[in-house]
Amino acid sequence: IPPVLAIVGRPNVGKSTLVNRIIGRREAVVEDVPGVTRDRVSYQAEWNGTEFTLVDTGGWEHDAKGIHARVAEQAERAVEVADAVAFVVDATVGITATDEAVVKMLRRSGKPVILVANKVDDMALEAEAAQLWGLGFDYPYPVSAIHGRGTGDFLDRVIEVL
Ligand code: GDP
Ligand code: MG
Repeated sequence: IPPVLAIVGRPNVGKSTLVNRIIGRREAVVEDVPGVTRDRVSYQAEWNGTEFTLVDTGGWEHDAKGIHARVAEQAERAVEVADAVAFVVDATVGITATDEAVVKMLRRSGKPVILVANKVDDMALEAEAAQLWGLGFDYPYPVSAIHGRGTGDFLDRVIEVL
């Protein structure tokens, strides 16, 4: 059975775009509006000859529970079945209260976490990614899921921790 990498983070940070980049197909639903329901969340992937399973998260509607709890809860379910976690943050926005809820859950989980600073579309945005060092998750990997910038280094790390 291939190891499992869960992709977690708040809506609209680019999780599904990153999944599509990794699998090389447009199967995960990318939405400009956060919180769209979608059924398929597991994808087979491969990098440098290592196969793994990707679990995308985020296909849910807002409900009375409120967004922070809902995002953290959904991420928690994915993390339970994962061997490692890619925590995706929007580097152009920085850390929000919803991100903080996920951070707390990830610390408790004890699973290996790779911090992905997404939307670093050009070198000028690298400085924003560096601001994420303080979260305590090791080196933030600056990537642009849309353009593919930095995703090779990120995937090298994925293979190391899986
Ligand atoms: P998810 O809700 O976390 O799955 O985010 P999506 O993958 O659906 O993307 C949300 C929005 O962010 C879409 O409009 C994407 O086109 C955009 N997006 C995703 N990755 C990038 C990126 O690397 N750079 C930029 N500029 N936009 C991105
Ligand atoms: Mg998505």
